[in-house]
Amino acid sequence: MSRKKILITGAAGFLGSHLCDRFVNEGYHVIAMDNLITGRLKNIEHLFKLENFEFHHHDVSKFIHISGQLNYILHFASPASPIDYLKIPIQTLKVGSLGIHHCLGLAKEKNATLMIASTSEVYGDPEIHPQTEDYWGHVNPIGPRGVYDEAKRFQEAITMAYHTYHGLNTKIARIFNTYGPRMRLNDGRVLPAFIGQALRGENLTIFGDGSQTRSFCYVDDLIEGIFRLLHSDYNQPVNLGNPDEISIKDFANEIIKLTGTKQKVVYKDLPLNDPKQRQPDITRAKNLLNWSPKIDRAEGLKRTYNYFKSLSLEELNEKDHYNFDKYIK
Ligand code: UDP
Repeated sequence: MSRKKILITGAAGFLGSHLCDRFVNEGYHVIAMDNLITGRLKNIEHLFKLENFEFHHHDVSKFIHISGQLNYILHFASPASPIDYLKIPIQTLKVGSLGIHHCLGLAKEKNATLMIASTSEVYGDPEIHPQTEDYWGHVNPIGPRGVYDEAKRFQEAITMAYHTYHGLNTKIARIFNTYGPRMRLNDGRVLPAFIGQALRGENLTIFGDGSQTRSFCYVDDLIEGIFRLLHSDYNQPVNLGNPDEISIKDFANEIIKLTGTKQKVVYKDLPLNDPKQRQPDITRAKNLLNWSPKIDRAEGLKRTYNYFKSLSLEELNEKDHYNFDKYIK
């Protein structure tokens, strides 16, 4: 029996690499694609020896060619932290616009099912709480997060258009804050920032007064939600995340307890347009996919901390693993 073939863009990134693991284990043939600007080969190295895995070093903002049959496409390529998209705003916009256009064209050609990694950022700094899928959002298009938020909103629009106009089978996962092993230590996101600071013996930096909230989902739960959504017959957006909400200040205290660091918290300016609160309403995912997160924060943080602890001193201290200048013309 021939294997189902799946293309995963952003495959060397945090979520992409976990998706590769899952689909390889489910017996799919995985075509992993990444331009390695923010992804790392180390995340998928262990899969290279498998016969149902191949890696293509390619920028999806350029035309994508895949020969033969293709059953699924997961478009997960994108810088995904505020620091990254501030550093590479044009690439962020391109992968979210040109990149998805190429993926959709390929999906149409192959009659493949396509899923996009959308985000809670489509809701911006939300005025309703928790966020349901029918909320249209509160986004500043020209603010620092605009390049990411609007690229993701455009992705939803063009994906829907291919669904309604071309009848393509498409899925839209609105992914809320997710954490776990293989996050980049220095991508600026709050969890690797806090854990990295604790491990290096630095103070933990809270932006603003720390009263802003987030709801953190452990990566394995998210991957299960994505797997179920991909195989559902549903084409409207679905929130995937863990509704267990916490303030950033309380989160810092949890990390201090977990790591046993003797360091304190220090306060820095809140970045512009930083959402004040965020919590997914996952009623739709529960009803539709019979899905809800199973791993609570205590357990998820323990597993994530163990991963970060296993990194070498060199990895812990590197500013970042990649060199933007090498890639950006
Ligand atoms: N944050 C913080 N200290 C840090 C990094 C982030 O207090 O060193 C805050 C940030 O301002 C935001 C929250 O933590 O309110 C989550 O930030 P992250 O970048 O992880 O994700 P996002 O804002 O996109 O949810």
